[in-house]
Amino acid sequence: NLKILSNTEITGLVQRGRTVLGVRIGTGEAATEILARETIISAGALQSPAILMRAGIGAAPRLHALGIDLLADLPGVGQNLQEHPGVSLSAYIRPHARLGNKSRRHSHIGLRYSSQAEGCGPGDMFAMVATKSAWHPLGDRIGTLLYWINKPFSKGHVDIENADSATGPIANFNWFSDPRDLDRLVDSTIMMAAVAASPEMQPHVVRPSPSSYSGWAKLLGRKSFSNYLMTAPVAFLLDAIPALQPAFVKQFIGGGRTLDNFVKDRSEIEAFVRAGVFGQWHPSGTCRMGAATDRYAVTSPDDGRVHGVDGLRVVDASLMPTIPRANLNIPVIMIAERMADAIRRNEAG
Ligand SMILES: Cc1cc2nc3c(=O)[nH]c(=O)nc-3n(C[C@H](O)[C@H](O)[C@H](O)COP(=O)(O)OP(=O)(O)OC[C@H]3O[C@@H](n4cnc5c(N)ncnc54)[C@H](O)[C@@H]3O)c2cc1C
Repeated sequence: NLKILSNTEITGLVQRGRTVLGVRIGTGEAATEILARETIISAGALQSPAILMRAGIGAAPRLHALGIDLLADLPGVGQNLQEHPGVSLSAYIRPHARLGNKSRRHSHIGLRYSSQAEGCGPGDMFAMVATKSAWHPLGDRIGTLLYWINKPFSKGHVDIENADSATGPIANFNWFSDPRDLDRLVDSTIMMAAVAASPEMQPHVVRPSPSSYSGWAKLLGRKSFSNYLMTAPVAFLLDAIPALQPAFVKQFIGGGRTLDNFVKDRSEIEAFVRAGVFGQWHPSGTCRMGAATDRYAVTSPDDGRVHGVDGLRVVDASLMPTIPRANLNIPVIMIAERMADAIRRNEAG
């Protein structure tokens, strides 16, 4: 009784009045409707709110401005976007300290720690060491110390530009709307810089630097033979002539910055954190659960039903009222288990 359609994109919801009858796949003449007693959207915290908004479920004024007919006025749709903001330091790893191909995984250590900043609670920070930074020979030689806020307070939002499902949603993470987030990442940068520059690390790495990977790193990140051919000679040269390594790290990884002069100036660190911040692939919270009387709640905490609409649930990371101080995979599975139980109970009457 289960049919999985892979590589199939939902282009809209099928609805009659306030009831969702199923989903639409494909567009134009090729559009097909899949009807069901109930529809469960699990498209993730960036796409689920977009699917709802395109179907007329969202903030009435915004949908009106987009020319989308209103199905349910739920101003919380797309709001409350949370992520784990992080930055990183990187260094050239000396040959003896590389893991090479001995291990499939490149991260072996995680550190959960507490900033002790007021109101942030225990375990509000996380750090991880990656012993290689990309698949190619150059990536094998660059280690990264990545650290992020496990309990951020800044909130952003997801929006759509129009009702066309071919236009992706726009995510605005609004990273440092809460000053506690900027402060903690700046403090952590000072702490991690001290770790990276410690005498214990020096035999193993060359010139730890704030990482500011530019477009070239992303281009080389694509797995291809030509990228291998481009990176292999540089990697060979850097190992053969160690005197080149500090300049390489400073220029191509640190964007001209070095750790020693950088940590002396808090405003410099702040600028680095603002420019270099990135998420950990943990968007959440954009169809937040909460009581039907809560104006900004989108879904029921009991069973994921979308308030004010029949036949529609959301079950994914977008339900989270607040981002957990942990990676999201297991929490999402826990949500799914709980909602599956609720659906079974509903079905049993
Ligand atoms: C590269 C990467 C590494 C990660 N590593 C870890 C980790 O080590 N540990 C951890 O705990 N978490 C990790 N995460 C985070 C974790 O995977 C996510 O938080 C979790 O999967 C979110 O679950 P979800 O159901 O909300 O969304 P997703 O898992 O993103 O599922 C949404 C699905 O909906 C599909 N979809 C979207 N729009 C449509 C549409 N219109 N029609 C049809 N289908 C659609 C998407 O293709 C996707 O398959 C990682 C994430 C990424 C991207």
